[in-house]
Amino acid sequence: MNKKSLNTAARDHLWMHFTRMSAYAKAPIPMIVRGEGAYVFDVNGKRYLDGLSGLFVVQAGHGRHELADAAAKQASELAYFPLWSYAHPKAVELADRLADLAPGDLNRVFFTTSGSEAVESAWKLARSYFKRVGKPAKHKVISRHIAYHGTSMGALSITGLPSIKEDFEPLVPSGIRVPNTNLYRAPNGTAGPDGRDAEAFGRWAADRIAEAIEFEGPDTVAAVFLEPVQNSGGCFPPPPGYFQRVREICDEYDVLLVSDEVICAFGRLGEYFGATRYGYQPDVITCAKGMTSGYVPLGAMIASDRLAAPFLKDSNWFAHGVTFGGHPVASAVALANLDIFAREDLNGHVRKNEATFQSYLERLHDLPIVGDVRGDGYFYGIELVKDKATKETFDDDECERLLRGFLSKALFDGGLYCRADDRGDPVVQLAPPLICDETHFAEIEQILRSVLSEAWSHV
Ligand code: PMP
Repeated sequence: MNKKSLNTAARDHLWMHFTRMSAYAKAPIPMIVRGEGAYVFDVNGKRYLDGLSGLFVVQAGHGRHELADAAAKQASELAYFPLWSYAHPKAVELADRLADLAPGDLNRVFFTTSGSEAVESAWKLARSYFKRVGKPAKHKVISRHIAYHGTSMGALSITGLPSIKEDFEPLVPSGIRVPNTNLYRAPNGTAGPDGRDAEAFGRWAADRIAEAIEFEGPDTVAAVFLEPVQNSGGCFPPPPGYFQRVREICDEYDVLLVSDEVICAFGRLGEYFGATRYGYQPDVITCAKGMTSGYVPLGAMIASDRLAAPFLKDSNWFAHGVTFGGHPVASAVALANLDIFAREDLNGHVRKNEATFQSYLERLHDLPIVGDVRGDGYFYGIELVKDKATKETFDDDECERLLRGFLSKALFDGGLYCRADDRGDPVVQLAPPLICDETHFAEIEQILRSVLSEAWSHV
């Protein structure tokens, strides 16, 4: 198809995800045709720095022939077989490798095709586990305000974003929300007298989980779902001690700690798993995206030996599965992707360069619109404010004009693909491929500087 017919066909037939399609009634739909390293190219040949790794996915960068070759080889050897009562070597090898990499006793891998399915699976596991160990009333889940955990009905019920839930109410009952770890907007008195005591704030935020469990009744709560760094809202890293306190609470009330690492696993934070970075032990890890660097879809729920145990005896089973979970081609690509991680020490590369990335982004603090720069690893959010001193944020109309009307397009036109998001307070989100270095950070900073300076005049 040529350029024009591609656009017409997209307009007529393609249902884009989370997209106001009317925005493209007259304007052309950005059409990305090729990727190479940290860059993608559109249908006109224009180059963009991929500042979001596609969608927090392309860890090893674009255009890796090695991953394409692994897919082709596996597809010609064994394209498909299910994991329903049968196994195939690539899924076994990958499960073995993930069990090795995952912290502590997280040794049992249940494959899915997406992050939503991994989250959905973890909630179902929590419910069916407690039924098997004689605590059948434990079924509720706790998660944090504005956190995104997926879009299938269960995962959406765990998601803490009212704006993407309203249309689908009523959802699965028994999802409970607690505060997130947005230190920049910590409620008065929760972060010490000067509002900057991260440890005190972390303690306060973690204790809200205990409070929610008490309020709901410990016998009814099955799990708490937390990202190592919460993405939605613009990168909220955990304050020191937060996860250690959450772990204590979960142990006290026999509530499972699910670390939703759909974004944070596979090097995003300089470790294979975010829990390793922050030194806590989850009962379950959910992951997807970066496991294959996005060359094919694959997700997983990695559960502890303790959770798997009841399902390994007698006539018990986990009555759950998906046709494409652990697809041979996806498993082969994930193994080849992990080979790249090991050979090129991508985690070490992130750890070595993250301070440089941070320092380039922090230079933007001199702009009046930049309120906060926060994150860890190769995962940052820049919060935009109307007034730096008071932290006053933009109202709905201003957000509409600023983010949708100007910023997203201007950044893209400027050669940077990233995301301007206002599902919480307005933020620009950045998560470049893990191969990026100082030259890429400088390019990101320079484009952001020029566009954010101009944005101020659109407020
Ligand atoms: N959990 C988290 C933390 C996510 O960021 C996402 C997707 N961005 C999901 C779950 C859902 O993953 P998917 O889109 O692959 O279903």
